[in-house]
Amino acid sequence: MVSAYYYVLKKYHESDVQEAGYQAMEKYKYFPKPSELVSLIAKKQADTQYEANFAPDNSPVKIWPNVRCRICGKIGMCIQEDDTWQCRQCYTGLTNEEIADRWEQATEKLRGF
Ligand SMILES: [Zn+2]
Repeated sequence: MVSAYYYVLKKYHESDVQEAGYQAMEKYKYFPKPSELVSLIAKKQADTQYEANFAPDNSPVKIWPNVRCRICGKIGMCIQEDDTWQCRQCYTGLTNEEIADRWEQATEKLRGF
C-alpha cells in the first residue's frame, strides 16, 4: 500500500505532496487516496500557472513566470522542458549572480557591434 503511494507521488515535488497532504487532512473525512492528492497538486499547479508562458504552444521549451521549481521548490520564473520545470538556477547550474554576469558579458559583446 505504501509503495502505491510512493509510486504515484514520487514524480511530484516533496513540498507539493506535503502541502496536498495538509489540505486533504482538513478537507476529507477519510485518509486521502493518491488520486485525491494528485488532484490537489494539479489544482495548485493550475492556480499557480495563471499567467501565460512566454513561448508558442508547440514550443518544446516554455518559460513560466510564476511556478514552483521541481528541484528546489522555490516559486518564480521556471523553464519547462520534457514535462518538468526548473528555475533558472537549477536549469543552468548557475547562481543568480553568475547568470547576471553572463548576461552582462553577452550584452557587452552586443554593444561592440
Ligand atoms: Zn530550482
